[in-house]
Amino acid sequence: MSEIRVGIDLGGTKVEGIALQRRELGGQERHGSREGDGEYVTLARVRRATERDRGYEHILDVTAEVLAETERQAGVKNVARVGIGMPGSLTEAGMVKNANTTALNGRPFRSDLVARLGRPIVFANDANCFALAERVLGAARGARVTFGVIMGTGVGGGIVIADEGAPRVWDGAQGIAGEWGHVALEPERGPACYCGRRGCIETYLSGPFIEKDYLARAGVARRLVDVAAARATDPAARATLEHLTEMFGRALATVVNVLDPDVIVLGGGVSNVDVLYDAGIEALRRWAFTDVLRTRVVKNAVGDSAGVFGAAFLPK
Ligand SMILES: [Zn+2]
Repeated sequence: MSEIRVGIDLGGTKVEGIALQRRELGGQERHGSREGDGEYVTLARVRRATERDRGYEHILDVTAEVLAETERQAGVKNVARVGIGMPGSLTEAGMVKNANTTALNGRPFRSDLVARLGRPIVFANDANCFALAERVLGAARGARVTFGVIMGTGVGGGIVIADEGAPRVWDGAQGIAGEWGHVALEPERGPACYCGRRGCIETYLSGPFIEKDYLARAGVARRLVDVAAARATDPAARATLEHLTEMFGRALATVVNVLDPDVIVLGGGVSNVDVLYDAGIEALRRWAFTDVLRTRVVKNAVGDSAGVFGAAFLPK
């Protein structure tokens, strides 16, 4: 039987599982394709409520149940390649930190889950899973270096490298590679960030902060989608979007200058703001240290399912 992998996306409201089977491309490698670009068939898909209010042990139980049910529906047992995507990150001691499912914070979730399941599991945060799913199946297919950005309630990022092999998440020396949202662009006078600094990228590019910027200019609250739609008629909306695209360009220039990715793929609710793909890219062109910008900035293609697909692609 050809390669089978299972991904689990542990979210604040639901735990999702997926079982994928690789369909080989056949004898001849397609032009330009690399290992890991095969086609995948979905064998099973399972969803359960996280019910995080019921506490840590319950979340462990639900996660184990989702894996068991996914395997049962797929007609497979003890799959060796299991990946789990979750918000937050793991400390060197394997403790969860920065997860919005706060029952997990400070708990040895990885070792507890490995002990319960009796097999190794690969963990990554949701931004890394997003970048990996977009690289394998979505808008960044074929890229050597991908930077995946999630701009939603917070701002995160993940790096995927596919050089002489299957695409892999690059997690870095302390597991924070891609944590781009907390680079301070204006540490002296920028908006206060929950991390304790001021002027982090997140305070310019996350949905709640963009809406706050509009409120400060217009004196009335509007949702981001309405602000984006009103730019032709509302000067405050226009000013908010100009500020957004300028900061987007400055923020992504830090990524382009250091990582120089082939593709930057945008995800999260803010990725639906159209001006990012013209005025935003124009601002990036002005700030990046290059005369010709070859990096493609594109919208996600896998969408909301990127977390669970990306988790499935984590194990080698
Ligand atoms: Zn911050």
